[in-house]
Amino acid sequence: MIPVKEALYQILEQIPKLGRERVGILEAQGRVLAEDIFSSRNIPPWDNSAMDGYAVRYSDIQTAAPKNPVLLRVLGDLPAGQVFRGSVGLGEAVRIMTGAPLPAGADTVVPVEETIKADGNVKILAPIQTGENIRCAGEDIRSGEKVLEDGTLLRPPHAGMLASLGRSGVYVYQRPRVAVLSTGDELLEIDEPWEDGKIINSNSYSIAAQALECGAKPLQLGIARDRREDLAARMKEGLVADILITTGGVSVGDYDLVKALLKELGQMNFWKVAMRPGQPLAFGRMAGKPLFGLPGNPVSCMVSFEQFVRPSLLKMGGFPRIFRPSLKAVLKEDLSKKAGLTYFVRCRLLEEAGRRFATTTGEQGSGILSSMVRAQGLLVLPAEKTGAQKGETVSVIPLDPYLFYTLEPTYLPST
Ligand code: AMP
Ligand code: MG
Repeated sequence: MIPVKEALYQILEQIPKLGRERVGILEAQGRVLAEDIFSSRNIPPWDNSAMDGYAVRYSDIQTAAPKNPVLLRVLGDLPAGQVFRGSVGLGEAVRIMTGAPLPAGADTVVPVEETIKADGNVKILAPIQTGENIRCAGEDIRSGEKVLEDGTLLRPPHAGMLASLGRSGVYVYQRPRVAVLSTGDELLEIDEPWEDGKIINSNSYSIAAQALECGAKPLQLGIARDRREDLAARMKEGLVADILITTGGVSVGDYDLVKALLKELGQMNFWKVAMRPGQPLAFGRMAGKPLFGLPGNPVSCMVSFEQFVRPSLLKMGGFPRIFRPSLKAVLKEDLSKKAGLTYFVRCRLLEEAGRRFATTTGEQGSGILSSMVRAQGLLVLPAEKTGAQKGETVSVIPLDPYLFYTLEPTYLPST
């Protein structure tokens, strides 16, 4: 039996970052960039107007005031998307719209609010600063600049930025393919007819869903029966994936065959981690592919996935940060535990008078899947402790990405 942290680092050492593939910039959302992105152009490409107004020479208008307007001759209209062919000379102006390239000769834009139209001319009423209301070429991005780095997690602004750089596709790290195999003679698939003594294979779905949640591609291999040939054949089928997960059959019962087969067909690095739930975890490799033999109990396999498989998949997918954040909360109840095992206790979080509290979801049996449904996080009790008291501050790993969402927009002043 090895400590959680040692198991985690032994596993991660064996997990490679996958290769890269080129995908469209929308398909790249939520994935990790696998190239540096440079700009081959300035953004904006040319000086342009930030306002609707008049492009002028500053030297013409520096004395303008409401009581002392400056009269300029208007050469023409310049909508966005067009280029002015002439140039603005002394005593001249061009009517310009937001986004249109600044005409040659002009160096300042006077907003339309500071002007009066006057029969082919314009009266400028305000002395604004030189260079005012102009967006300069390259003020956003300079030609040749490194705009995005290998290892960047791509979010919506990156899609817009890549588009404006003229990139419709980019290299990202591949999504890990995860083979999920449930084991057990007692298992039925969801839509099979009910039989006495049998239960539905739920692990395949919770584990595949967890894999999806971290951006991996699950490949459901169904159910292997507790017989050597069947299990071995299906484990081998899983080798098409980047990583293999089995659930069940990894304890000490007569029908627990996963460990023996892992040793026979590959190598087993360790079995059993000092944690609860999830103690009987086997990890090894088969034909070069990492294999996680997760325990069969529905809660145990999910908690083991959280601790070991999730960071592994994120590492494979090129994610620079692979561990969930944790937060502190004050315990609402006394908890007792066995020394020597790290406990991951299903809990809920609540806020009272500006303080965050944690309560357990009650019964912590590793078959109580409903407690996993209710859980908002996992409360971590370190191995050496024999318990924790009400009022103590503990670490909690939130599991629900929408946990901190609110019913009201609390970031706006209350009315
Ligand atoms: P095992 O370690 O194979 O003995 O599995 C432990 C317990 O987990 C079994 O008695 C089942 O109740 C449960 N179990 C195992 N596999 C699954 C599964 N795929 N779906 C739901 N429950 C399972
Ligand atoms: Mg079993």
